[in-house]
Amino acid sequence: MAQNVFLDIIAGKIPCDKVYEDDDVFAFRDLNPAAPTHVLIVPKKPIATLNDLTDDDAALVGRMLLAAQKIAAHEGLTTRGYRTVFNCNEDAGQTVFQIHLHLLGGREMTWPPG
Ligand code: AMP
Repeated sequence: MAQNVFLDIIAGKIPCDKVYEDDDVFAFRDLNPAAPTHVLIVPKKPIATLNDLTDDDAALVGRMLLAAQKIAAHEGLTTRGYRTVFNCNEDAGQTVFQIHLHLLGGREMTWPPG
């Protein structure tokens, strides 16, 4: 699989503002935050898009969501709430082809998203 910026961040080749890491998942603040808290939760396993997930990745996706829950609690977002987003391919605006869960919080959100 082609290397990309998020795999380079996980490998320590590109600096980031890291907020969380466990055996499977790595999380850091978005360079261009769309909310007061904007964290990207990325699996260490290379997976380009949601379309590439298999049944074997079910637990990994669960780990990503549990990481989001922990980070949200650490950021003080539990009560007021927060949003989690996976973008998949062009129509959703995916720009980095290593799956990542956006965790956004610290302001009121609108719905539907743009
Ligand atoms: P997406 O559009 O879902 O692919 O989101 C990619 C996100 O990665 C965008 O919100 C970018 O601001 C963010 N991003 C790109 N490069 C970096 C980087 N080096 N460090 C942190 N965030 C980044």
